[in-house]
Amino acid sequence: MTSAATVTAAPGPEPAELLRRLRSRSSRGPDDGPVTHVERVPPRPGTSVPWPQWAPEQLRAAFARRGVVTPWQHQAEAAELAYAGQHVVLATGTASGKSLAYQLPALATLLTDPRATVLYLAPTKALAADQLRAVAGLGLDGVRPASYDGDTPRAEREWIRQHSRFVLTNPDMLHHGILPGHAGWSTFLRRLAYVIVDECHTYRGVFGSHVAHVLRRLRRQAERHRRTPVFVLASATSGDPAAAASRLTGLPVEAVVADASPRGGLTFALWEPPLLPPSAEAVENDATELMQVRRSALRESADLLTDAVAAGVRTLAFVRSRRGAEVVATMARRSLDEAVPGLGARVAAYRAGYLREERRGLEQALLSGELLGLASTNALELGVDLAGLDAVLICGYPGTRASLWQQAGRAGRSGREALAILVARDDPLDTYLVHHPEALFGRPVESTVLDPTNPYVLGPQLCCAAAEAPLTPADLELFGGPAAVAAVEALVASGALRRRPTGWYWTHAGRPEVDLRGTGGAPVSVVESSTGRLLGTVDPESSHFQVHPGAVYLHQGASYVVDDLDLDDACALVHAEEPDWSTHARDVTSLSVASVRSYVDAGPVGLFLGEVDVTNQVVSYQRRRIGSGEVLDTRPLDLPTRELHTVAVWFTVSPQALAAAGVEVADVPGALHAAEHAAIGLLPLVATCDRWDIGGLSTAAHADTEAPTVFVYDGHPGGAGFAERAYGTAAAWLRATRDAIAECGCEAGCPSCVQSPKCGNGNNPLSKSGAVKVLDVVLAALRDAPTLPVDQGLVHLDRSPVM
Ligand SMILES: [Zn+2]
Ligand SMILES: [Zn+2]
Repeated sequence: MTSAATVTAAPGPEPAELLRRLRSRSSRGPDDGPVTHVERVPPRPGTSVPWPQWAPEQLRAAFARRGVVTPWQHQAEAAELAYAGQHVVLATGTASGKSLAYQLPALATLLTDPRATVLYLAPTKALAADQLRAVAGLGLDGVRPASYDGDTPRAEREWIRQHSRFVLTNPDMLHHGILPGHAGWSTFLRRLAYVIVDECHTYRGVFGSHVAHVLRRLRRQAERHRRTPVFVLASATSGDPAAAASRLTGLPVEAVVADASPRGGLTFALWEPPLLPPSAEAVENDATELMQVRRSALRESADLLTDAVAAGVRTLAFVRSRRGAEVVATMARRSLDEAVPGLGARVAAYRAGYLREERRGLEQALLSGELLGLASTNALELGVDLAGLDAVLICGYPGTRASLWQQAGRAGRSGREALAILVARDDPLDTYLVHHPEALFGRPVESTVLDPTNPYVLGPQLCCAAAEAPLTPADLELFGGPAAVAAVEALVASGALRRRPTGWYWTHAGRPEVDLRGTGGAPVSVVESSTGRLLGTVDPESSHFQVHPGAVYLHQGASYVVDDLDLDDACALVHAEEPDWSTHARDVTSLSVASVRSYVDAGPVGLFLGEVDVTNQVVSYQRRRIGSGEVLDTRPLDLPTRELHTVAVWFTVSPQALAAAGVEVADVPGALHAAEHAAIGLLPLVATCDRWDIGGLSTAAHADTEAPTVFVYDGHPGGAGFAERAYGTAAAWLRATRDAIAECGCEAGCPSCVQSPKCGNGNNPLSKSGAVKVLDVVLAALRDAPTLPVDQGLVHLDRSPVM
């Protein structure tokens, strides 16, 4: 990376000045520019406090060698609570030093009680490896930290069980290895003082619900050895972390959220690329669904990266796919070389699969200023530690405010002022956010959603628990009370468990086969045919959509094409290929209502939460040109229908109310369909889910509701808590949906408002104006609704757990 261009010695312009320059370059000029909002986050001085009295001198000295003279206030506060025996969750920003907060009480205890042990859980092996390096690097006597995961050689496992006092692992290993083999861990469990759950916000949805039970199983095993370990959890900033941590652990947890680490000021701009006029070609071909699009977020981000680098500003662009990151880097390099030959060499793309040394080289080049611009997929996931940046471009909303702040938090070296820009993509949620800064700033990030009472999770987990030790009535309280009682009865009826005077016993010879990352059905393995390499797995629920024959499958930003989907072996064979089209599955869905859990009677409008049976068949797929979106062809598929029993939220509107609101009868299907799409697009605003977690169905007349209806359902058997969350926040959710549609500048609907990239009907019919009218009727009725939700307390007829 030798630079032909001279290295800028002086720092680049201040954020406000840089933003002014970027705006003035834009086609719409500085006044009516693409910037919809600028948020100023003031700098914050750090508040440090003395070490707690109980922190051993040896530990203080070890931290001091690492550069920590005294702890920040939030670290000390969380550590104090944990040391006093209180379960605690620390939910603060990136780089606020969360690990010190749990290392301090845990290591202090290990140093003062030579028998105590600590279990540390991370969601990934890489994170556990980083933590192991950090703890081992402190060089404390007698702690003997060791990681215990699928890669640990058999020969070392026995030693670790007997001698390590700080074991680092992940929930999968705890579930598959440690808990079933608890007899071999009895010494460790008998002395277990702390359980550390790092990055606990990643345990959400079905996976989170499983982990919640794995932690209960751990608590039960410790309890059998008369230990009640203290849980210390670390989380990204999240809404109501105490409640989320309580749901995850089943324990009362206190939260520490006031971040006392210092940081420089941040200027945060929201940027909406302009709408482009419809292309002559699209008009000619009557490709109405592609009539109006915005300038692509990729192109916009490439221009911003170019201008920032030209101004000498060290800039990182976060792009969702590897291909996108490469496109952004290539475009920026080309423009820079046109301006100043050689300058393009100072921009790079960063992708997965780099070796450790290559990553360190890149970090160094950015730190030294040799490299000025980098386009990357989520660098945190890739294990690269990027410091020394002045500006961050976020190409497309990353899905949660938590990750938005995590990415923005990369900007700002040694307390300097920094700039972050969110560039909106063609997507209803992005559109809504750039016009509603209040949804991003000055409000807590979203709560983590999980549902330990999901019978599809609870049943299998109770089997695992029973296989570890017979279940007692007291255990059922631990696993969820009434829900667990019902689940155990169903398991006895199905023959999975047997009731004896001493408890419920697992009746089979082998152990139950339960995968933490799915509900029922084996995950589908994605295998590269030529090498036999396992690229990853896909939920069985979404496999027909994502890995049907002919599908373009993206993995860590690299592109593959599926040759064959073998449903019997749960395996998709793929080959590496980067075609210039994307694929979009088309499906046919029908839905019937099984039961209603709760409802709101709002006159002409009804809002419901309940259980539904969804029948779905993926019947064909479209190939669309990347960039233009032009439909190349539609190809048929031969896949079986599938049944899903799940939880849905739905609303009904009387035909009279729709007519009174000016929705023509012929427009009703399009109006409901458009409202459904946008409502699904906006659901991540209130629940931490993504589009594969959610399905929808709208109809002008439904057999069960006998009214025009929009259903939104959890895409996982038994539900994952998303529909429930949508029901609980329906007014806010549907208000945001309505505003996103109404405020989109397009004529008749676009991907930024009512079109959906995963629509099974090819986005037809859609009525943008009708959707706004429908939602206005719903919101007005909900506002005037005299009653609160009515809890049905229905007996769930067919809520039997499935093995
Ligand atoms: Zn639009
Ligand atoms: Zn649709």
